[in-house]
Amino acid sequence: MTLDQPTIDRLARLPVAPGQLLINGAWGDGQNPRSEVLSPIDGQVLTTLASASAADVARATAAARAAFESGVWSRATPAARKAVLHRLADLIEAHAVELAVLGVRDNGTDIAMAIKAEPGSAAGTFRYYAEAIDKVYGEIAPTPANILALIHREPVGVVAAIVPWNFPLMIGAWKLAPALAAGNSVVLKPAETASLSLLRLAELALEAGLPPGVLNVVTGPGRVTGEALALSMDVDVLVFTGSGATGRKLLQYSAASNLKRCYLELGGKSPNIIFADAPDLALAAKTAAFAIFRNAGQVCVAGSRLLVEASIHDDFVAALAEATEKMTLGNPLQLDTQIGAVNSETQLAANLGFITDAMAEGGHIALGGTRALTETGGYYMQPTIVTHVAPQHRLAREEVFGPVLAVTAFDTEAEALALANATDYGLAAGVWTANLSRAHRMIRGIRAGVVHVNTYGGADATVPLGGVKQSGNGSDKSLHALDKYTDLKTAWIQL
Ligand code: ADP
Repeated sequence: MTLDQPTIDRLARLPVAPGQLLINGAWGDGQNPRSEVLSPIDGQVLTTLASASAADVARATAAARAAFESGVWSRATPAARKAVLHRLADLIEAHAVELAVLGVRDNGTDIAMAIKAEPGSAAGTFRYYAEAIDKVYGEIAPTPANILALIHREPVGVVAAIVPWNFPLMIGAWKLAPALAAGNSVVLKPAETASLSLLRLAELALEAGLPPGVLNVVTGPGRVTGEALALSMDVDVLVFTGSGATGRKLLQYSAASNLKRCYLELGGKSPNIIFADAPDLALAAKTAAFAIFRNAGQVCVAGSRLLVEASIHDDFVAALAEATEKMTLGNPLQLDTQIGAVNSETQLAANLGFITDAMAEGGHIALGGTRALTETGGYYMQPTIVTHVAPQHRLAREEVFGPVLAVTAFDTEAEALALANATDYGLAAGVWTANLSRAHRMIRGIRAGVVHVNTYGGADATVPLGGVKQSGNGSDKSLHALDKYTDLKTAWIQL
């Protein structure tokens, strides 16, 4: 893999083929009118995208069901499925730069981050579940001697995956890899503003030998294509990453249709807590900046609420602002860019709305606060630090999903914990302290899926990621994710 500027520039000049639907191994148009794909880098049209109607979605779920029932994949040996998924990982790695550049043109993530977080992470996830799946056994229950009770683990059938635009390949792979490894068929619905790299991934999956109908991709608006998929009577399990508002609708669609199981990952308002006894405050300041501003804040686990012990508040905010100012905001296709574009004009307007409200509620803008690089025609925003944010302020309660950090001071550990938990969300948290007991008290006390200590945002395929409270249910990654994609069946046998 060569990741150098000339290669990126060359790939970025290539025309992008119009996106099509993948149904039963065949590429084709949807019944609804195509939509234009605007690049957030310059606001220009990149290509067009097929738009699946409810009838198109029904064809996709029927293809997935037929493939599942045929047994071509669902009853293939785990070793056979493993081989295909490893080939897919090989192909993702071989096309990593192409996939990353295509994704960046579509969603605006900076290329240095995208290459690792997107194809790099996706390939690793496919390998992880490829390797796992021939090591998953059923169980024999400790029943009376005249009974043999077997607990089988079976694929669920047809899985619908609705994924967001911030990390389409990474999050797509978190759903696709365990679902496919377990033998399910999948209908994937990418986000309207980040479909292109997932369509290319689906092409590579066919090339790797995934049988037709096992992976289907339907693109189009959430409220049309996504809604039809979530209302399908033929989907057994729906997995989703996105906003809380959409998550609520999905549960309603499930209730209104076949009660399909829904696993939702719904973002957060994650506290990053800096105690005065942190081992390295300079590192804490730099990490806090990266925790919120990488990918322009469009990260579900972003450390978007900074809670700082009052005795170091002013110095820490100054160090944080200095670290932030060193981050390069610019064209995400440049290797030295650290903060790329906001995904869409709608998202940018929503981010700026948060700033207006924060100021009206008494927040102080310590840095940024405005749109940037308007001359490019793209959607950029200054990384923004708002201090004096009170827990009842909108900026402390609602997820921005943009480069906006809310800073609040605290005096005691108890107050820090109360502030950390004063949110409807429960996805991630960070704690900076050299006091081991305090670190463990905070880990126990914070209601979140992951608590980072003296770092922020690190993770790999071996650990689960999932939310509590209104951040959702179920986990992506690790062996635990397989629970979402398998059903338990008991065989109770009289001997
Ligand atoms: P965001 O606000 O971050 O764009 P969304 O929850 O709107 O997050 O989008 C995440 C995914 O959910 C996208 O693929 C989008 O198309 C899809 N989506 C949005 N609205 C609906 C809906 N009503 N039904 C099903 N899917 C939807």
